[in-house]
Amino acid sequence: MSNKEDSAPEESVSMDDLDPDFKHMVAKEPGGENIKKCFACGTCAAICPVLSVNDSYNPRRIIRMVLLGMKEEVLSSEFIWLCSGCYSCYERCPRDVKITSLMGAIRNIAVREGHLPKAMGAAVDLLKKFGRILEVSEFENTVRAKKGIPELEFEISEIKKVLNKAGIHEATKEDGNDE
Ligand code: SF4
Ligand code: SF4
Repeated sequence: MSNKEDSAPEESVSMDDLDPDFKHMVAKEPGGENIKKCFACGTCAAICPVLSVNDSYNPRRIIRMVLLGMKEEVLSSEFIWLCSGCYSCYERCPRDVKITSLMGAIRNIAVREGHLPKAMGAAVDLLKKFGRILEVSEFENTVRAKKGIPELEFEISEIKKVLNKAGIHEATKEDGNDE
């Protein structure tokens, strides 16, 4: 097991702050189905390239926090956004926890509950404004026209519907990122 994992700070946990339903909520979210199968072997932590450079991210610890019911600590944390999706843990986990998908499930719940990091909020603002995360100006369309490529549309109503459905629009409003 990684030495870096062992160096994680220890904090006391108040039973009053725990939500015993949190693990069930995560298990119901697509991607989170196998979380309760984890037996804390630490294989994911040992192989994780993010943990090797950043102690604040530890997949095994995040899973234990979810199973304990530390809902607010997990959902409001920045570390749940650090998984690079490399899948190194995914194929090595002896319990088929599918950690990469699990991290996506936890992030989806976090967004629905209004915890979207400000950096992500900036990207969502661009999506809401332009329908993509890069602004396409008249310059790009002029270049496209010269090359015989159709002009890009700026129709964003469908994008807004998707963001609303995913709860992302509301999450960014709470973070003060709405227009
Ligand atoms: S490798 Fe799988 S079983 Fe082992 S700690 Fe990680 S998620 Fe749990
Ligand atoms: S998928 Fe995420 S948790 Fe798994 S090894 Fe890669 S960075 Fe770590």
